[in-house]
Amino acid sequence: MVDLSFAIDPVYIATIFIFIIGLQRMSHPLTARSGIVWAGAAMLIATLVTFLTPDLTNFALIAIAIVIGGGLGYIAAKRVAMTDMPQMVAIYNGMGGGAAAGIAAVHLLGTTTAATSTLAVVGGLIGAVSFSGSLIAFLKLQGWMRPRPITFPGQQVINMAVLALAVVSGILILWQPSFIPLSVATYLPLFFVLSLGFGFLMTLPIGGADMPVVISMYNAFTGLAVALDGFSFATPNYAMVVAGVIVGAAGSLLTLLMARAMNRSIPNILFGAFGATEETGTEIQGSLKPIEADDVAVLLAYANTAIIVPGYGMAVAQAQQRVKELADLLESKNVEVKFAIHPVAGRMPGHMNVLLAEAGISYDHLFDRDEINPEFPDTDVVLVIGANDVVNPAAHRQGSPLYGMPILDVELAKNVIVLKRGEGKGFAGIENDLFYRDNTRMLYGDAKESVGKIVQALKKL
Ligand code: NDP
Repeated sequence: MVDLSFAIDPVYIATIFIFIIGLQRMSHPLTARSGIVWAGAAMLIATLVTFLTPDLTNFALIAIAIVIGGGLGYIAAKRVAMTDMPQMVAIYNGMGGGAAAGIAAVHLLGTTTAATSTLAVVGGLIGAVSFSGSLIAFLKLQGWMRPRPITFPGQQVINMAVLALAVVSGILILWQPSFIPLSVATYLPLFFVLSLGFGFLMTLPIGGADMPVVISMYNAFTGLAVALDGFSFATPNYAMVVAGVIVGAAGSLLTLLMARAMNRSIPNILFGAFGATEETGTEIQGSLKPIEADDVAVLLAYANTAIIVPGYGMAVAQAQQRVKELADLLESKNVEVKFAIHPVAGRMPGHMNVLLAEAGISYDHLFDRDEINPEFPDTDVVLVIGANDVVNPAAHRQGSPLYGMPILDVELAKNVIVLKRGEGKGFAGIENDLFYRDNTRMLYGDAKESVGKIVQALKKL
C-alpha cells in the first residue's frame, strides 16, 4: 500500500488552526453554533488522517468502536434536553479522561522511554481522576445520587492517603525496583484503581452550587491528560498535544472565572464542602403572598423600570420567546427593561445568554451581576422567572450553606414578582426567604404560561 504517512503531521497542523477558529467562534453566542461545526470538522479530519499511520492494525475493531461510540453520541446529543446539558458535558468529559487513561495504560504496557512513561503515568493519573470524578458529577447532576456534598469524618486525610498511594504506585511503575519482584502488569491495575478511587472520593464532598466549577475543572483535567498522552508517543502526536492544551487552557480559564463568580477559591471548592452544613438558627419570617397575572400586568404597565431575572425554571419552561414578547410589549409602553444575568443561572455556563439570544433578545439588554446590582434599589418591578439560588439573600447570612455566594440583590427592588410553579427549592436545596419578604409576590404556575398570561393582560390594558 502507498505510504502516505508524510501527510499526517501537516494535516494535524492544519486541524489545529481549524480548532482555534472553532474556539474563537464559540466565544460569541451568535457564532457559537458554527464554531462547533468547525471544531467537529477538525476532529473528523484528525481522526481520518490517523488511519494513515504506518503499521496500523485492528482496523475492524477501531471501526466498530467508532461506529458504536459515534452512534451513541449522536443519539444522546439529539435527545438531550437543554436543561440536561451539564450532566451530558460531565459524562462526555469523563469519557475523554477515561480514553486518555486508557492510552496511557497501553503506552506503559508497551516499549517506552523514561520520559514517555513519566508523561504517561502523569497523564494516566489525571485522566483516571477526571473519569471517575466526572462520573460522580454526572450521577449528582442527573439526580441518581444525592447532589448535596457527601462528607464523613477523616475524609480529607483518607483522600490524601489514596492520592499518595496512587502516586507511589505510579513511581513504582517507572522505577520497578529490583528488590520487589513485581512487574508493570501488577502495578498498573493498582495505580488505576487508586487513581479512579481518588477522583471518586475527591468529588463526593463537592456539590450544590459548586457543581459548575467542578465540571469545568474536570474538563481542564481531561485536556491536560490528553496533551500529556500526546507527548508520550515515540513521535509526539501534535493533534492530541494541541487539542489537549486548548481544552486544558480553556477549561482552566473557565474554572477560574466560575470560581471568581462564586467568590470561591479552588482549594475551598475542593476541600470546603460548600453547602454541606445545614441551615441553622434562622427562622424564616413572613408569609408567601400570591398574586394574579392581571395584577402583575398592571404593576408593570405603570412602572418606569423593570428588571427580568431569568433562571433554570425559564429554561425548563422554555419561556424565552414569551419573555421576549413581554419585554417588547413593555418597551412599547415606555418601560425600561433590562435583563440581569447571574453567571451560574441555569445549568451551564452561559445558559441564560444562549436562551435569550435564541429568542432574539439583543445583547445590549443583558447585564451581569456587578453592573446591575446597584440598580435594584431604584427599580420599580423585578420579575424573577424561574430563578431561585441566584437570588437567595441567605447568601449574605453567616451560617447559611450559601454564605459567600454572590447573588443578584433583587430583594432591594421596590416590587419583586417571582414566577415559579410551587414551593420547590433551588439546585442547592436551600429555603429562600426572598419569597416571604413584604415586597415580594408569588405568581404560581409554569413560567411559560404565567408570562403568556401577563402578556395577554398587558395587551388588554
Ligand atoms: P435554581 O435551580 O436555583 O431554581 C430554579 C427554580 O425554578 C426552582 O426553584 C423551581 O421552583 C423553578 N422552576 C422549575 N421549573 C419551572 C417551570 N417550568 N416554571 C417556573 N418555574 C420553574 O435556579 P437558578 O438559575 O437560580 O440557579 C442555578 C443553580 O444551579 C445554582 O445553584 C448553580 O450553582 C447550579 N448549577 C449551575 C450550573 C451552571 O453552569 N450554570 C451547572 C450546575 C449547577 P418550582 O419547583 O417551585 O417551580
